[in-house]
Amino acid sequence: MSKDIFVAIEQRAGMVQKVSIELLGEARRLAAELNEQVVAVLMGSGVAGLSDMLCHYGADKVLVVDHPVLEHYTTEPYAKAMTHVIHTYDPDIVLFGATSIGRDLAPRVAGRVHTGLTADCTSLAIEEESKLLLMTRPAFGGNIMATIVCKDYRPQMATVRPGVMPLPEKDESRTGEVELVDAGLSMSDMNVEILEINRNEKKSVDITEAKILVSGGRGVGGPEGYQPLRELADVLGGEVSASRVAVDSGWIEKDRQVGQTGKTVRPNLYIACGISGAIQHQAGMEGSEYIVAINLDEGAPMMKLADLGVVGDLSVIVPKLTEAIKAYRAKQAV
Ligand SMILES: Cc1cc2nc3c(=O)[nH]c(=O)nc-3n(C[C@H](O)[C@H](O)[C@H](O)COP(=O)(O)OP(=O)(O)OC[C@H]3O[C@@H](n4cnc5c(N)ncnc54)[C@H](O)[C@@H]3O)c2cc1C
Repeated sequence: MSKDIFVAIEQRAGMVQKVSIELLGEARRLAAELNEQVVAVLMGSGVAGLSDMLCHYGADKVLVVDHPVLEHYTTEPYAKAMTHVIHTYDPDIVLFGATSIGRDLAPRVAGRVHTGLTADCTSLAIEEESKLLLMTRPAFGGNIMATIVCKDYRPQMATVRPGVMPLPEKDESRTGEVELVDAGLSMSDMNVEILEINRNEKKSVDITEAKILVSGGRGVGGPEGYQPLRELADVLGGEVSASRVAVDSGWIEKDRQVGQTGKTVRPNLYIACGISGAIQHQAGMEGSEYIVAINLDEGAPMMKLADLGVVGDLSVIVPKLTEAIKAYRAKQAV
């Protein structure tokens, strides 16, 4: 009988990606409801040393597939390794990060093991009676949230967007079993030749890491409208982010977009300036700890979501707020 929750761990150059840690935390929560174990599947070359850390974050067991052909991610050897693991261990649930690698690997594996895949999930739960995995994701252009179940095939498979699930606490006293798996790989499994790897040296901002975000929408009025938001973000030690309208208008870079087709953020403080709060935007920021909305329209959906709503013109309020914080800091320093 299928059992346990497997998490496909994504590592790049020996660095475990944050989404995999988030998934270990989520798998722990689900496993407690099912009374099952959390199993991390670690694939790569010379990566076994990462196993302890995966146990510290929630894995009960780590299956290590270590082979030189897995040094850099390529579809075929990784799909073969993961398919072998699923055929051998028969998991109940398998989770992948909805990253470029996870989005490439998961459907390939689902096809090979003949099961379904729910891509880009934003929440997971266990149905009380049937114990089925409830996989929820935006559908029909984000206008509804669809909950999908996989009744007849195993494993139940999902990819989950980075940043959606909270990071679990690290517990260095946690230990687990580590098992080396021979997936029958050989160098001839590589059906492409890597000629060169070009890393993008341009360091893009990672708004998912920011503790404070000052976010601007159509209400900022144009690219120059972001300057006061940047100044506020600077005094608060935060970053600037944006709605899709602002990105599509070319006012700010795409890597700062929050929402369904942007990034999912959960900062301690999210200041939404001139953002109405469409469902697709909320999908990316509703997990923020404290939300402030600055908007001309007190009926805007963002005002309802916010912990604090300020009705007024952002071009007046934002610079005043920046000055007030500077003045407060100066007073504190004396
Ligand atoms: C499939 C799909 C995916 C999408 N993905 C995303 C996504 O990832 N992220 C995203 O953000 N959107 C996304 N959208 C678009 C989304 O539906 C909204 O159109 C968008 O979020 C609206 O952006 P906005 O709030 O900046 O603009 P608007 O909805 O036009 O709101 C502007 C707000 O600014 C206020 N305002 C105007 N002037 C001022 C001022 N001077 N001071 C204070 N307030 C002012 C207005 O009262 C208004 O509330 C998606 C849509 C679809 C269909």
